[in-house]
Amino acid sequence: MTDCIFCKIAEGEIPSKKIYEDEEMAAFHDVSPQAPVHFLVIPKKHIKNIMEVHDDHSSLLGRLLVKAAELSKELGCEEKGARFVVNCKEHGGQTVDHLHIHALAGRPLEWPPG
Ligand code: 5GP
Ligand code: ZN
Repeated sequence: MTDCIFCKIAEGEIPSKKIYEDEEMAAFHDVSPQAPVHFLVIPKKHIKNIMEVHDDHSSLLGRLLVKAAELSKELGCEEKGARFVVNCKEHGGQTVDHLHIHALAGRPLEWPPG
């Protein structure tokens, strides 16, 4: 999608601190980190949000989650843990309309969210 910031990051048109990339996904550090470790995992294909997915996306979604967990361990979060979040639309707090998984770690995180 031409006007999507994460599509542009996926295509390398906008620079990012990439941690991982393959033909169907990319992971990169959040530009405005909310924890010592804060990265995003996205599909390269433009999917607006988690409510737009269907059965055909199952394998891709599985891969995104597996990669988020794998990278969090590589970044030293295995012992203390992390939070994996998918915000969706207005009430979910989604600000970029391209599906992404947040991985946050490196400090205790509050629950429930405010
Ligand atoms: P959302 O609020 O949609 O769940 O999360 C969007 C996230 O994308 C935010 O945490 C925000 O800081 C991050 N973000 C927005 N624009 C950019 C960008 O240009 N580069 C990177 N690396 N992160 C971005
Ligand atoms: Zn996009």
